[in-house]
Amino acid sequence: MWANIYKIRPLRALITRAAPGWAYNGFRARAKPMDWNGKKAAVSISFDIDYKDDIPQLKPILSLFDSYKFKASFACVGMWIEKFQREHSALVDHGHELINHTYSHPNNEELNPKKFSSLTSQEKLGEITKCSEICELALGYSPVGFRTPHFGSQHSSEVYSLLTEAGGFTYSSSTLAIATKSAGNPYKETNGIIEMPVASCPRHPFNTLDSFHCFRSSRSKHSPEEFVALFKQTVEDAKARGTLANYYFDPQDFSGKPGRAGLKHLEAILNSLGSQSDLLVGETKRIAEVFASKSKERKVSD
Ligand SMILES: [Zn+2]
Repeated sequence: MWANIYKIRPLRALITRAAPGWAYNGFRARAKPMDWNGKKAAVSISFDIDYKDDIPQLKPILSLFDSYKFKASFACVGMWIEKFQREHSALVDHGHELINHTYSHPNNEELNPKKFSSLTSQEKLGEITKCSEICELALGYSPVGFRTPHFGSQHSSEVYSLLTEAGGFTYSSSTLAIATKSAGNPYKETNGIIEMPVASCPRHPFNTLDSFHCFRSSRSKHSPEEFVALFKQTVEDAKARGTLANYYFDPQDFSGKPGRAGLKHLEAILNSLGSQSDLLVGETKRIAEVFASKSKERKVSD
């Protein structure tokens, strides 16, 4: 039902205005509790390095993460790796995961105005393989995860067969929780690629709780303090339901510029995770691995 409503823009706008809590709780009620190595819920944080403005924020974010035991995932664009190799190398040096985010991030005014969904299958495959090649050549890193640029409307099930064709991929994180049949939990696509949906905003359930949504979108703004509170609310919700809570942010949104969050807000959410021993926190690929191992165990015991 919710995945169908998601496709009808006026209806989702109406529900968001009239009854966001009803929609959020309604779709989340369908999420089944999963085994997260004995922990109550799994949390993964990723950053999309989409624009030039994201680059200067990488260093402070890396320094902040050094104080915590868990790592993050960074969705990287081939063209930015070529231009800012040192900054991307640092991500690997600090032990974080790199996610393939295509070579030119189609539908990005700084790099490539074409929409990803308008590319031919061969062009899409080329975007995926070229990004992986650059990760390997320039950074000595082979990504196993993929994120469709702007996901949502740009993402389609074709991506999973392209990832299989490209080889080496175990998961994608390109869908919005409310639009998935698993209500935000990981699930396997028909060809075995795991999809790791991104958490919905409790106040705008048809949007992800990402930092662009909170601070830069014209329609649905949150203050940095609200962002921290909504983050904590969704983690609590994941714990109560035994599910995944998967987030993506843009590094530039932690610059402390007017209307955006600062590093102290990122620190607040990382502190809230670090203090909870009943959470499995880690890179998206690690959470996907736990999900995969549990589904194997389930199959053996069936
Ligand atoms: Zn919101």
